[in-house]
Amino acid sequence: MNLIFIAPPAAGKGTQSELLCNNRNFYHLSTGDLLREAISKNDENSIKLNQIIEQGKLVGDDIILDLISKEIGKDRDYIFDGFPRNLKQAISLDQLLVSLNRKVDYVIYLKVDKFLAQKRILGRLSCSNCGSVYNSQIEESNPKIEGICDDCGASLIKRTDDNEETFNNRFDTYMKETEPVINYYKDLNILYELDSSLDKYIIFDEIKKIIGVK
Ligand code: AMP
Repeated sequence: MNLIFIAPPAAGKGTQSELLCNNRNFYHLSTGDLLREAISKNDENSIKLNQIIEQGKLVGDDIILDLISKEIGKDRDYIFDGFPRNLKQAISLDQLLVSLNRKVDYVIYLKVDKFLAQKRILGRLSCSNCGSVYNSQIEESNPKIEGICDDCGASLIKRTDDNEETFNNRFDTYMKETEPVINYYKDLNILYELDSSLDKYIIFDEIKKIIGVK
């Protein structure tokens, strides 16, 4: 089973991916994580990639498709988080999966309004070790001890692209480039829309119902 999360920044793609991976043996493929990993190598591409991400623009399709094709050969269930982000990527993913005798089964579209997304982004903190996500601006998502991960005790860090200017650019890029992908999957009858302002466990239950797992 292959599943895609489409959503504006901070709609909870990463959180829902993590919940699903704990529930079932999915392989979580986040193009944002792959890019951050590539940047951390500090090679000649790192500065350029980092600049694009900090400007809130999309990284070139060739780079993204290269990262994806290196990852999806194996016979396992994938969650695509943050990919595809434009029509070209969506069509390329279909072609890649067809060549492997596979397909996209479900596309979960997490809707979020810009104000809530901004609040989530500006307060977002993630664990430098295990990736758990917290929010300094949303009381129920605060860590128990400031700056420390509840789950593993490592320090919490802020992503450098989680600032107001980059957020606005990312949101605009999303509206322009990624929203058309929604209609593409709607036409294929595999799109499911959920309200990301609901509690994360309510959303998770809805997702499990959609994909038919307990
Ligand atoms: P994310 O972690 O999904 O929020 O992605 C962080 C940033 O990485 C985005 O704002 C883009 O600059 C870049 N990025 C992630 N996924 C893609 C993609 N599929 N296509 C192009 N750029 C991407």
